[in-house]
Formats: sequence, C-alpha cells, structure tokens
Amino acid sequence: MAGRPLQHFTVVGTEQIAPHMVRVLLEGSDFGTFVPSNFTDSYVKLVFVADAVDVAALPHPLTQDSFSVLPPEKRPSVRTITVRKVDAAARQIALDIVVHGEHGVAGAWAASAQPGQAIYLMGPGGAYTPDPAAGWHLLAGDESALPAIANALEALPPNAIGKAFIEVAGPEHQIELTAPEEVQVNWIYRGGRADLVADDRAGDFAPLIEAVTTTLWLPGQVHVFMHGEAQAVMHNLRPFIRKDRGVDAKWASSISGYWRRGRTEETFRQWKKELAEAEAGAR
Ligand SMILES: Cc1cc2nc3c(=O)[nH]c(=O)nc-3n(C[C@H](O)[C@H](O)[C@H](O)COP(=O)(O)OP(=O)(O)OC[C@H]3O[C@@H](n4cnc5c(N)ncnc54)[C@H](O)[C@@H]3O)c2cc1C
Repeated sequence: MAGRPLQHFTVVGTEQIAPHMVRVLLEGSDFGTFVPSNFTDSYVKLVFVADAVDVAALPHPLTQDSFSVLPPEKRPSVRTITVRKVDAAARQIALDIVVHGEHGVAGAWAASAQPGQAIYLMGPGGAYTPDPAAGWHLLAGDESALPAIANALEALPPNAIGKAFIEVAGPEHQIELTAPEEVQVNWIYRGGRADLVADDRAGDFAPLIEAVTTTLWLPGQVHVFMHGEAQAVMHNLRPFIRKDRGVDAKWASSISGYWRRGRTEETFRQWKKELAEAEAGAR
C-alpha cells in the first residue's frame, strides 16, 4: 500500500461506544477517491503526520514514499484500522478504535480527536467476507477485531448459522451487535484491559482460547475468521483450527494477529516477519 496515494480526511466527531472504544467519524475532500470495499474486514492505514511537517513541500502526488525525504524521526507512524461503516450519502467513514491508555498512536489519537483535525489514510484493503456456501461460520477475536466481526455478522444472510466469540475486559464493554438468529454471540471476559491483565489472562492464557477450543463443533463446512492479540491467535487458535480441527486453508485463510502485547505496530511487523521466516524454514 506504501505507493498508493494518501487520502486527506478530517475528523467530524467522536463517540464513546464502550469504555475502551471510540468511534471516529471522518469525512474529506478525498472521499470521492475512497472506493469502499465489499470485504467485511476492509481496513485502512492511518498515516499520522506530525504538525511540524510541511506536507506541501513534499513530493506529490503524496504517498507514504513522499516522506522518505525526511529524517526517520519525522516520518509518520502508520496504523491499521478496520472500516466499520461507510456512509456514501454523508461522505463519511466510521472507525472504531481501541483506547488502551495514553501510549501508542492510534488509541491515544482516537481518545483526544477533535472535529476539524486532519488525518491521512491509505486504502482500503481487505480479504475476507463470510462465504454463503459455508455450512456455518466461526468468528473470534478481541476488541481490535470487534469492528470486523460486527461487519461480518451484519453481512451474513438471515438464515446463516454460526458462533462468534468476542473477548473484552468485562460486561460493560459489550456493544450492541446485529446478527442472524442462529448465530450465537458469546462475550468472553478477561477481567481487564488486554495490555494490562496479568500473563495468566493473556497470550497463551487468553480466555478466548478456552472458549473457542471447548465449544461444540457444528456439522458442515466451517468458515473461520479469527484475529486479535498475536500470541493467542497465531500460537493457539490457528493451530487448533488448522491442525486439531483440520480445517483446510481455503476455509481458514483469515486467521492472524492484529496486534501483539508489548509491541508497537512497527515492532509487531518485525515479529510477524520473523514468524513467517521461521515457519517457511520449518517446511
Ligand atoms: C487488518 C487489521 C485491522 C485492525 N482493525 C482495528 C480496529 O478496527 N480497531 C482497533 O482498535 N485496532 C485494529 N487493529 C489493531 C491495531 O492496528 C493495533 O492494535 C495497533 O497496534 C494500534 O496502534 P496504537 O498506535 O494504538 O498502539 P501501538 O503504538 O501500536 O502500541 C503501543 C502499545 O499498545 C499496545 N496495544 C496495541 N494495540 C492494543 C490493543 N488493541 N489493546 C491493548 N493494547 C494494545 C501494544 O502492545 C504496545 O505495547 C487492526 C489491525 C489489523 C492488522
């Protein structure tokens, strides 16, 4: 996506939709070039340009590469966020962003975003949408995947069958979801913020893992969507789905970490690269 043009948007407003989640509404002169995707996991890359950077002086058309003329410390941070809603009539998009304290870029920005504030974005990208040919759907994730799970539940046909497992801090963190009658939505409580709970409630011990691995398996072909904290997803949920349950890659292609405890998005990218190399070496 780095070579794709950056689109200029403006914050319209924010809404606190759960204690740790803020919906940010964006609109912009570049809405016309934003081509919404049909993927329910459609995402954008938010590009956080520091106020001190003179964007007009950078090479145009503006892409992420335009910033390579700047010293590394002045280049923007980039964060990946699901497109929760697109309102073509209002020319707005909504992003639901986890606020996990004051550290980080995206969460802290969402917590303090003000109408009129500028933001650049790239995208959308995406790869998954629930396959109507599946016998049933299995969706699981933490708060970071909740927007994508909410999109998928809304896109399922009314007669769809399935189970969704969503891990949040506690009952007060649940949000209203629209799902077909025969899709069971299970909220799993870890007892605190994902980055702050003790190690026995996160990573290999995330309560989401037990909920998914002990659930009654339904008959018919399953289509899987699982994302969230990388240790829980890549080292626990993925092996369960692919090896223990033997789900073919075609039906389980959308399983990955969306973030990693103790790592920023930049250092998490490095972790993903190392994991991919280790897996390639093991083949
Ligand atoms: C395809 C895709 C779609 C995504 N969609 C969404 C979305 O719709 N909404 C959303 O909020 N996130 C989403 N994420 C996850 C998001 O990109 C990461 O959580 C990202 O690290 C957040 O950036 P940050 O600047 O807030 O924190 P960073 O600067 O990246 O990290 C700072 C610290 O915060 C911790 N941290 C990061 N994320 C979380 C979290 N969710 N909970 C607790 N601690 C955290 C890190 O471990 C690190 O210690 C998505 C990721 C992908 C790959």
